[in-house]
Amino acid sequence: MLMRRLEVFLGSFIVVCLVCLGFMVFNDTIPVSSKDSEQEQVKAKELEQETAPEEPVISDQADEVVVTETEETAKSKSVDAENHIVCIDAGHQQKANMTKEPIGPGSSKKKPKVAGGTRGVKSGLMEYQLALDISLKLQEELESRGYTVVMVRTTNDVDISNSERAAIANEAGADAFVKIHADGSDISSVHGASALCQTADNPYNGNLHDESYALSECVLDGVVSATGCKKRQIIETDGMTGINWSKVPTTIIEVGYLTNKDEDAKLNTDEYQTKIAQGIADGIEAYYQR
Ligand SMILES: [Zn+2]
Repeated sequence: MLMRRLEVFLGSFIVVCLVCLGFMVFNDTIPVSSKDSEQEQVKAKELEQETAPEEPVISDQADEVVVTETEETAKSKSVDAENHIVCIDAGHQQKANMTKEPIGPGSSKKKPKVAGGTRGVKSGLMEYQLALDISLKLQEELESRGYTVVMVRTTNDVDISNSERAAIANEAGADAFVKIHADGSDISSVHGASALCQTADNPYNGNLHDESYALSECVLDGVVSATGCKKRQIIETDGMTGINWSKVPTTIIEVGYLTNKDEDAKLNTDEYQTKIAQGIADGIEAYYQR
């Protein structure tokens, strides 16, 4: 009797277990109706949207990139390089031309067409060579920034008078005429950079004084800033043929003293010449940006 009860109990237990097992299997494979499943998916999607900050961040970054590009474009557009023509005159030439020409339109006062320049006290570097080296570097720098450049000369073996050099700038429609020179002095300790332009009372082109002075100041500051050389002065003079014949804003930049042995040594290096060219280009750009 006891055995019979035990059998019934065990039988019932097995049945119950089988039912339970079946239910568990069934519950795992088909847990919810398809409608419930859709709701779950919608909920999951909503949750994903709420907790997914990546998308707005990426969009912010994209906006920042666009803003940066706009600012850069605006900066280069404010310089408007493509609408500017710079005329570069590498001072002097291989052979001086001592034939005289009027120092200004209609002037009875005359000066040599092209005087001989100074030379490196230690290096022997000729001013006309230094002027050309810097001028070619300046041309490359300005063209890389988008400016149109007109060169008075690209070789030393030329014969172009100072009034003819101004005529080249005038005919090119240049809005800046930059004449590259180096200085000399009997006093060997004198060093540093200067710039020259006409006075406001210049009888030929005094109306250009303000623009020429501003150009001189910008270019001189550019050279001093780029090289760390001594800033000397802006000289206002009406005795320079190359300035007096010009009909556009003009500066003569004296990049340093070849008669000072330390400055001579610097001026004779490619690195220092490149700094000068970059400084002049920065100055021209600053002049246009005023
Ligand atoms: Zn000179």
